[in-house]
Amino acid sequence: MATADVIVLGLGAMGSAAGYHLARRGVRVIGLEQYTPVHDRGSSHGQSRIIREAYFEHPDYVPLLQRAYEQWRALQEECHASLLIMTGGLMIGPRDGVLVQGALASARAHNLPHELISADEIQHRFPPFRVSPEMVAVQEPNAGVLHPEACIRAHLDGATTAGAMLRFEEPVLQWTAGEHAVDVLTTKGQYSAARLVITAGAWAPQVLDALHLPLQVERNVMYWFAPKADASAFAPSRFPIYICEYRTGAFFYGFPAQSDGTVKVAHHHSGDFCTPSTLRRDVAPAEVARIRGLLEAHLPAASGELRATAACMYTNTPDLNFIIDRHPQHPQVTLACGFSGHGFKFSSVVGEVLADLALDGWTRHPIHLFRLPRFG
Ligand SMILES: Cc1cc2nc3c(=O)[nH]c(=O)nc-3n(C[C@H](O)[C@H](O)[C@H](O)COP(=O)(O)OP(=O)(O)OC[C@H]3O[C@@H](n4cnc5c(N)ncnc54)[C@H](O)[C@@H]3O)c2cc1C
Repeated sequence: MATADVIVLGLGAMGSAAGYHLARRGVRVIGLEQYTPVHDRGSSHGQSRIIREAYFEHPDYVPLLQRAYEQWRALQEECHASLLIMTGGLMIGPRDGVLVQGALASARAHNLPHELISADEIQHRFPPFRVSPEMVAVQEPNAGVLHPEACIRAHLDGATTAGAMLRFEEPVLQWTAGEHAVDVLTTKGQYSAARLVITAGAWAPQVLDALHLPLQVERNVMYWFAPKADASAFAPSRFPIYICEYRTGAFFYGFPAQSDGTVKVAHHHSGDFCTPSTLRRDVAPAEVARIRGLLEAHLPAASGELRATAACMYTNTPDLNFIIDRHPQHPQVTLACGFSGHGFKFSSVVGEVLADLALDGWTRHPIHLFRLPRFG
């Protein structure tokens, strides 16, 4: 039986970052993952993730975001790969909508650089957009694109370099917390450690079944289109990441063109609930027609040939805030899940927070929004 100071269960976005920070603090780490490194079966594939600072979800996320940016830049410098491209961001919607009002609240509370611009100004600055006159946008410079596969690979490589033992294609079947140790059984062996960090993504409901967490897994599809014309208008130097509240509380979002010239777009929250084993990976023509309809209305030049689709899972909590806490019955077990479709950008700082909680039992970072007792 292999032993360590800390076992990390699940090496996706959060687990790779936790393994990285733990190993760099000099503790012995074993990481266990059911699939291959940087796989596309969970929540962290698809070539791009938005990062933005004027966070419409809640102003209390902003200090964590600022730390996340620092950590991404440090990691990027260390691994000599391109992890983050700054493009600026555009939050488009009705002036009194949750997106514009939320982004403004964060920007004002934290004194972030931003501008509130009119529909005419949106079209003037970013010609591909078509927005109705009552729409406005919060434009911010501190937003951009993370490359999730490269980010996870950088965390995994950094963890290994710092001495972590990472094992892939080795599903965890069971874990048990005793008085002095946590024992973990996989398909290939047994492991024991003083601490366990559980970062199982969409599998958290199963891995943490005794906690009956209020989590719902939601299928969300990403679409890659070739622009119809004037592809240069979508270049990352000219075109920002954006979110559009096209109907009250309903959002689609997208990115500038990737190196292959395609632009990725998606709905935020489909309402199509599933489990990892029932997730439907094929995409129906009616789904394509729906997203194409939104593009025709708001970004017609992006609605060319459909080049690819991929299904991905959100793991939602009732309030859409994350869960990051110690296990209520087993303080030697730390968990992070329920990232509700907006966690990736934070994974660099979540790794640091998880290392704090696992080793010290507390963190200086503000995580009060993410505590378990809020569910009663
Ligand atoms: C379509 C889509 C778009 C998104 N867009 C954005 C965005 O623009 N910006 C943003 O910030 N966030 C975004 N997100 C959310 C973000 O990607 C997720 O919050 C984040 O990737 C979740 O990371 P995770 O580590 O919890 O899950 P994962 O990365 O899925 O990792 C969990 C890992 O645990 C492993 N595992 C589970 N059970 C076991 C077991 N029993 N044994 C061994 N291993 C196990 C899994 O195989 C997996 O590798 C998006 C998500 C999706 C799906």
